[in-house]
Amino acid sequence: MRVAIIGSGPAGFYAAEALLRRTDVKVDVDVFDRLPTPYGLVRGGVAPDHQKIKSVARVFAATAARPSFRFLGNVRLGGDVTVEDLRRHYHQIVYATGNEADRRLGIPGEGIERCTPASVFVGWYNGHPDYRRARIDLSVRRVAVVGNGNVAVDVARILLRSRAELERTDIAAHALEALRESRVEEVFLLGRRGPEQAAFTPGELKELGHLEDADPVVDPAALEGCGPGEPGGNLELLRSFAARPLRPGRKRLHLRFLVSPTAILADADAGGGVAALELERNRLERRPDGSVVARGTGEKERLEVGLVFPAVGYAADPIPGVPHDAKARLIANRDGRVVDPATGQAVPGEYVVGWARTGPQGLIGEHKRASAQVVAHMIADGTGLDARALPPREAIDGLLRERGVKLVSFQDWKQLDDVEVARGARRGAPRDKIVDVDAMLAILAPAQ
Ligand code: NAP
Repeated sequence: MRVAIIGSGPAGFYAAEALLRRTDVKVDVDVFDRLPTPYGLVRGGVAPDHQKIKSVARVFAATAARPSFRFLGNVRLGGDVTVEDLRRHYHQIVYATGNEADRRLGIPGEGIERCTPASVFVGWYNGHPDYRRARIDLSVRRVAVVGNGNVAVDVARILLRSRAELERTDIAAHALEALRESRVEEVFLLGRRGPEQAAFTPGELKELGHLEDADPVVDPAALEGCGPGEPGGNLELLRSFAARPLRPGRKRLHLRFLVSPTAILADADAGGGVAALELERNRLERRPDGSVVARGTGEKERLEVGLVFPAVGYAADPIPGVPHDAKARLIANRDGRVVDPATGQAVPGEYVVGWARTGPQGLIGEHKRASAQVVAHMIADGTGLDARALPPREAIDGLLRERGVKLVSFQDWKQLDDVEVARGARRGAPRDKIVDVDAMLAILAPAQ
């Protein structure tokens, strides 16, 4: 059986591994990516100071070394290649295209200068080619990060890391330079619900207490009425933050709860960019199903900040030819089988894994099992499918080259990897990323 996987992030690689380790069916797997570089979220999403999480790339490289695996980088589905092409050349297709769009706050002022979705800032500091030219103005002293998830924590932490801490990471060189000149002194992390409902995880929260040049600030009153919490959990950590003395002269990370931005206010004098947030205080309400929601009290305050990063979740962008669930903002599916959103009927031979299937939930490792479950459906559904005659395996490469696509193989990527690692060594970093697709292709040009 021949399978195309679209997207070389964790969910795509886990699906490839589950397919390639089957002993009952021989599967050839071609993994496509719109970028010349593999690993998706691991390269472009995971924070540069989280090298341990990024080390999962070694597991994916082992999958890529399997003989029936091919990487076809620099190929965009819906542009260079169509779903129709894939149906002709493969028995089955797996979409592993992740979540590349942001969820919005839906409040007045969201589009103004210096209100920047977290994904843009994350893509920028991680050297994602799409965001290398993003304008991130770090000349302001106070910044708000809206949301209480791990992405919000990543954004706050990167803003507050010292130069020395950042230099040791694989942060993009342009971001390192800009952050070195940063004038940011105070970051406000804003949760709409209470400390007990925060989505960030204790491991990530704990790190905020170990920043070289910044201290977390928690008002003890914000923790009143909260239960004891788990040992080593968020509440215990927040209590320890609230109790500890602040080091003078350090930057501050204010963790605030029960507030929702209701408007982003522009400053006419500052070129119309962000001048402040209007915040509404919330109270918690328990619903009959046990869930706890934030309700506005009508009480407002003004928080002076010059930059706002909403970090309130991601969603999937529609891809031409791929059934999209516009309400859930995912690839329309039932249990990983792609369905027609109008009829609910399964689209034969098409599957979805990872965040494109579930939305932005679950840590990287959790998608290993989820991708394997979808692969089990593929094998169950695929009986007899391999009888359908396909063009020769390399015919797709010919088709793409005819269209002027410069294909990037896994071998090519290894060459780029070596260049990046060598560049990084000069500043004592694990790598210094090449952030421009043309520059990547120029390095590979003699081989292509
Ligand atoms: P998330 O964990 O779902 O958090 C989203 C946050 O945004 C929640 O606090 C949510 O509050 C808040 N929010 C949503 N809509 C809002 C609104 N209109 N106004 C104010 N706040 C709003 O999502 P994420 O942070 O994007 O992370 C996505 C996934 O990646 C998660 O599974 C996360 O753990 C994972 N991740 C892990 C790491 C790591 O270091 N391990 C790093 C980054 C991401 P409510 O709870 O009230 O809805």
